[in-house]
Amino acid sequence: MDSGMIGKIQKARQYAEEPERVTFESFTVDFAGNHDHYTIGYENGAWSCTCNFFQGHSVCSHTMTMERLLGAMLKATAEEA
Ligand SMILES: [Zn+2]
Repeated sequence: MDSGMIGKIQKARQYAEEPERVTFESFTVDFAGNHDHYTIGYENGAWSCTCNFFQGHSVCSHTMTMERLLGAMLKATAEEA
């Protein structure tokens, strides 16, 4: 492997220790719940989820799970504020 590539791998290792460098702007995921699969969307700090609970509360166990998983990689959210 050339030295340039070794340097890139080392840099990637460092960056991965600092997740706050990365901010998700938008994505969609499939969430496998206990009884069903849900589609979660994220767009500029705003969540959506196809589960029933989310429709009435604008937050649910699925979006809260995503906030825990992605932490510093999300824009500031209601749970942190
Ligand atoms: Zn949900």
